[in-house]
Amino acid sequence: MRKRIVVYRKVPQSVLALLREQHDVIEVEQVAAASRAPLIEALARAHGILGNHMKITPELLDAAPFLEAASTISAGFDAFDVEDLTRRGIVLNNTPDELTETTADLAFTLLLASARRVVELAEWTRRGEWRASVGAAQFGVDVHHKALGIVGLGRIGSALARRAALGFGMDVLYCNRTRNHEAEEAYGAQWRTLPELLAQADFVCLLVPLSAATERLIGAAELRQMKRTAILVNCARGQVVDEAALIEALREHRILGAGLDVFEREPLPPDSPLLTMPNVVALPHIGSATQQTRDAMALRAARNLLDALDGRITSTCVNPEVQVVLEVSRRHAG
Ligand code: NAP
Repeated sequence: MRKRIVVYRKVPQSVLALLREQHDVIEVEQVAAASRAPLIEALARAHGILGNHMKITPELLDAAPFLEAASTISAGFDAFDVEDLTRRGIVLNNTPDELTETTADLAFTLLLASARRVVELAEWTRRGEWRASVGAAQFGVDVHHKALGIVGLGRIGSALARRAALGFGMDVLYCNRTRNHEAEEAYGAQWRTLPELLAQADFVCLLVPLSAATERLIGAAELRQMKRTAILVNCARGQVVDEAALIEALREHRILGAGLDVFEREPLPPDSPLLTMPNVVALPHIGSATQQTRDAMALRAARNLLDALDGRITSTCVNPEVQVVLEVSRRHAG
């Protein structure tokens, strides 16, 4: 049976064509909450939705009574209330594998750029301030053979650990709720409590999913536990860090710098103090933003959605427990 899919993010034509082979597709621009009438109208008859970034609220789900499956073009799925989806019998899939290496590249870029002050000194050079050979005022800090603390050593964290340990001779410390024995063996990663990691690492890189447990995991107290010479890199989600506390710590030079791909509010407001701090490298949430990776993610998300609409629960399903809910409602219907 042909179903109806709402696509709320621009995806390649080839991906739309793949979806259209089996189902009807409505494309809806990502819109601000105030002008959501076309989206709400499309959702009224939707069986599947595909996109990313937009918060999928209970109100949007209420407007979609036939919704069977949601497919996010991202590894993180904090735009959804997973328990609510499960209660409603809606299958959620993500794209955890396609972006791993690309995002690890970006995390390491932020680490290097912050340590060697690449953005600040490129701007300094462009302004014509390079009039004699550089001195201590332009020196950065070494990355190689330093200690990297990874908070959230999962897929991306492990890819980062590989770069750090095998490429740069770094000591890898990590903090997870469960031990990652593979990374311990392959990269000599050493498990630490969060306070231990913060106290020992020269670079702290955040790669945990955003959840109730990780929201504002790094606040004023945690920033105070870091070395004054340490750099914080956030490639996870902005809400994992208390941004006001970070701004304060950077202003007071309680840490050396920060490399940030994600922020509490995105796009980052133009008046954010982070944009004027020389010891901050701020990027516009580009962890997975290469053409190759974004295309691969969109294709994976489309395939995930087709599987889910066919009733298949695959390895990228975020809420496999939804099967129980679906089974119960099937029995009621029978
Ligand atoms: P993953 O494979 O699920 O790894 C997440 C790791 O975090 C796991 O090792 C997990 O281990 C750990 N963790 C979870 N909750 C924790 C907690 N409360 N305290 C300590 N550790 C915790 O996920 P991934 O693919 O590496 O992606 C991680 C996150 O990166 C995504 O959720 C997304 O938000 C973000 N991301 C950002 C970008 C970007 O563009 N900047 C791109 C891709 C992904 P335990 O379960 O053992 O604790």
